[in-house]
This record gives sequence, C-alpha cells and structure tokens, in this order.
Amino acid sequence: MNKGLYIHIPFCRRKCLYCDFYSVVPDDGAAQRYREAVVRNIRHYGGSFDTVYFGGGTPILLADELGEMLKAADISEDAEITAECNPCEMDMCTLSTLREASINRISVGVQSFRDAELSALGRRHDAETAVHAIENAAAAGFRDISLDLMLGIPQQTAQSLDETLRIAAGLPVTHISAYMLKIEESTPFGRNTPLLPDEDETADMYLQTVQRLSQSGLSQYEISNFARDGCSCRHNLKYWRREEYLGIGPAAHSFIDGRRYAVARDLNGFLSSAVQAELVTDGCPDEYEERVMLGLRLSEGIPEELWKPLESGLQRVPKNYYRIEDGRLSLTAEGFLLSNEIISLLLSQR
Ligand code: SF4
Repeated sequence: MNKGLYIHIPFCRRKCLYCDFYSVVPDDGAAQRYREAVVRNIRHYGGSFDTVYFGGGTPILLADELGEMLKAADISEDAEITAECNPCEMDMCTLSTLREASINRISVGVQSFRDAELSALGRRHDAETAVHAIENAAAAGFRDISLDLMLGIPQQTAQSLDETLRIAAGLPVTHISAYMLKIEESTPFGRNTPLLPDEDETADMYLQTVQRLSQSGLSQYEISNFARDGCSCRHNLKYWRREEYLGIGPAAHSFIDGRRYAVARDLNGFLSSAVQAELVTDGCPDEYEERVMLGLRLSEGIPEELWKPLESGLQRVPKNYYRIEDGRLSLTAEGFLLSNEIISLLLSQR
C-alpha cells in the first residue's frame, strides 16, 4: 500500500510568538544543503507514496528546491502534494514555481483576518496580504487551497471571529483548519502569556466556527478540519486512519510497521548524517486504543466492532456528546470539545 511522505522544512524568517515547531532562520546555502540531505534520506528509505506534505517551518522559502526533492521519490500520478505557505511569500512567480514542481495543494497560515490579532501573534503578514495571497494562489491555478485559522487568540471576540470566518468563507478555499491556541512553555507566550479569551469563550468560538463553516459549505470532517465535498486532506487522513507515513527532516515523525519514530530536532545533525537519526517514540502502541482515539477525532467515527467493547462507558456519556448512525459511533461538535475526557472515560470502562 502507498504511504504518505511528510517532509519537514525547518526554516522561518522569524519566530511567531506562540510557535514551538522546530525551525531556524536559514543561512546562505542552507536551501541547497537541506535539499541534498532530504534527497539522500528519500533514496535511503525508498517506498511508494500517494500523498506528500511539505510542512514546517515555512516550506515556500525553499520553493526552488521542492521539485528536486519530489523527483527523488516514487510518487503516484494522482498523488495529493501539499506545501504549507506563508502569505508574505506567495507572489505569482513563487506560486508558479510550486505548480511547476507538481505541488497541487497549498495550505496557507493565515490565523486571522484582523490586523490587531495578527500583530499580537507576532505574524509577519496583515489581513490584506493574506487575502491577496489566496487570490494569487487561485490565479496561479491552485484548485485545492486550505487555510489555517486560530481560535482563542489575544484580542479575539465572537464578533472579530465572525468577521474572520466571513472573509475566509468568501475566498476561493476548499479546506479550513481551525486550531485552538495552545500555550507552549518554551515560547514567548509561555514565558509571558498575554490576556486571552477564557475557556468558555474559546469553547463558544469553536462551536461558532463549526456552525458558520458548515453554513458556508465547509463540513467538519475532523475535530479541527473542515472541507468542501471531496476536498478533505488525504495526507492528514492517513494519520487519523492509522495508515503508514514516512517523515523526513528534523522533528519529523513516522509510523511504519506499527511503530512510531521521531527524528531529532537537530538541523546540523540532519545535514551532516548520511541517514537521519530516529528514535522510537513508543515501544509498541496499543493498536485498539489508538484506533479508538484517532477514529473519534473524525466525524466518520469508528465502526461497531471498535465501539461495542466501550458500551458500558458510553452509558455514562451525555447523549448530546455523541451519535450512533449506520453502526458508527462519532462525537458531536459539543463532544469534540471534551474528546479527551470522553475517550479516557470510554477506555477506562472497557
Ligand atoms: S507559526 Fe509557522 S511561520 Fe510562525 S514560526 Fe511557527 S512555523 Fe514559522
């Protein structure tokens, strides 16, 4: 079976205040050395892929190198090939380079269409730049355009979120990811946390997002992901359906032969090694529990053979948090808000 291929591009022009993804500011020659190391690793592992995802970091900073990386891999004709993009770099010339490299899906880190919120997050772009970036992507011929939004960010209100969702839904996008801000200790926000909407306000923003996007034809298919018909992210679905993927680059993760691996967060180590250094991140995961945890993130939920053993726990979960349809158990939007608690309860009563 074809796997997914994830390639981490660990470069950003500047760190956003909330971000703990592994990335550094690139120096001269970094792009070429990085491409060579990625190609070396792709050749070492081999395999066939039907999805590729360039994540980061800011993959579009290495737009000229991504095509060469792809040429080193065995990729099926109908593959979904995504590159994460920062609005500041999405000029027509760079977008054409991505198209020529056979990238057919882009994911734009927008986060908000309110300038004050973007500036509080330490983002480099403003709302107008983000709108132009998405219009450029459509003009360059991209049909599959996703954008990322954030909920529960400094200065955000129900009204400002409504404005962001209105603008997002009016753009030529086929997919939206909406994540709640998580404060990570190692970031500037972790050291000096700004005033944020409280938990109840953020939960309401989540429900507002689910409702508004669904009214705009973007149905929820995962806790944080929404898509027009047929436009769910095939690569990310592999994660939640427990299918195999290979990760290349510092901080990348893989799931191969039932085992999970992570590459060290060490750019120099990655560049100077013939093969990336990987660590097993969990000895032997409990397959059943993983299938339940991952499957209940999806609106399609889990089949009866997976939820039958959980029936006694299910009786203790309020009915508005889940549904059973066509034999499948899934969580409602209210249930997604408490998914960790619900899944722990279900598994503890097994
Ligand atoms: S949020 Fe994206 S652009 Fe900002 S520092 Fe993190 S990876 Fe880089």
